[in-house]
Amino acid sequence: MNARAWYEGLTLRGTFLEREPMGRHCSWRAGGPAERYFEPADPEDLAVYLAHAPADEPITWLGLGSNVLVRDGGLPGTVIATARAFGALERIGALEFEIGAGVSCAKVAKAAAKAGLHGGEFLAGIPGSLGGALAMNAGAFGGETWRLVSAVATIDRAGVRRRRAAAEYRIAYRSVTGPAAEEWFTGARLHFEAGADGAAQERIRALLAQRAATQPLGLPSCGSVFKNPPGDFAGRLIEAAGMKGARCGGCSVSAKHANFIVNDANGTATDIETLIERVRAAVFAQSGIRLESEARILGRPPAGGPREEKP
Ligand SMILES: Cc1cc2nc3c(=O)[nH]c(=O)nc-3n(C[C@H](O)[C@H](O)[C@H](O)COP(=O)(O)OP(=O)(O)OC[C@H]3O[C@@H](n4cnc5c(N)ncnc54)[C@H](O)[C@@H]3O)c2cc1C
Repeated sequence: MNARAWYEGLTLRGTFLEREPMGRHCSWRAGGPAERYFEPADPEDLAVYLAHAPADEPITWLGLGSNVLVRDGGLPGTVIATARAFGALERIGALEFEIGAGVSCAKVAKAAAKAGLHGGEFLAGIPGSLGGALAMNAGAFGGETWRLVSAVATIDRAGVRRRRAAAEYRIAYRSVTGPAAEEWFTGARLHFEAGADGAAQERIRALLAQRAATQPLGLPSCGSVFKNPPGDFAGRLIEAAGMKGARCGGCSVSAKHANFIVNDANGTATDIETLIERVRAAVFAQSGIRLESEARILGRPPAGGPREEKP
């Protein structure tokens, strides 16, 4: 007889699924299954789950899946999806908001602009959650998430919740190093600047139009695949290496923006990762520069698929 799994019999109010295809939750619309997928109803529901999870249960947090590729072999352990549990957004002073990690970046930008505050406009076109933006130090058009952060709220795998000052984190371009491993963001206090009424809304409109003109927004992607190397642009290097338009299976390097890989014909995670490696090799051969992935590639390759990405 099979032993009872540790999660059987838990009373959870959120959505709990086994072998959930991650293509349903990732903007690339490809990817293998998560062994377990849990979308807690609220922080208390999450606390119950974390309190019962064994110490060796791998845990991966997911915002809106707009920067993640789960290999076709799937992801061991539990994916915790934050969209429902951390959705609060509250203005708490003249210039500050307290915002849950599950709130979309677009909603953050809109709320600040509506309040006549400036500095968050760049978030409007980033299709992720605040939690993902905090984890990635997402940025665009000269703005960066962590320039807005005064404090964050976190939870660790024992369910302990903390408040931490922004100064406790080491922040760099698309990189955030926290003071503790296995501690995740549940929210943040963001600080904006006072400005003229309507100006932030106007800037949001202009930035969204600029994105629509330069990015393949109608097709599944994760935005820019590679980080820009110091003093250069990944897109320029990819184009110079002759990889614009290159294809692998159902995916291609966008003809509109060479740093986007689009899933335009039902491609798999293996197609995407293979194309990423081909682009990286072509750029290295042409320029001597080794591009670093901005997209987070997670999980197990399928049997016979691409090898683990080297850090
Ligand atoms: C069309 C398009 C345009 C884009 N443009 C931009 C852009 O201009 N600038 C930019 O920076 N990015 C851009 N991106 C990439 C992406 O939207 C950002 O990286 C975004 O911040 C990811 O947020 P998410 O909620 O989707 O995170 P996910 O993709 O769900 O997760 C990303 C990483 O963050 C971790 N994570 C998620 N939530 C938490 C949490 N609460 N606590 C701790 N870790 C967490 C995940 O484990 C994962 O490692 C774009 C993507 C697309 C598809």
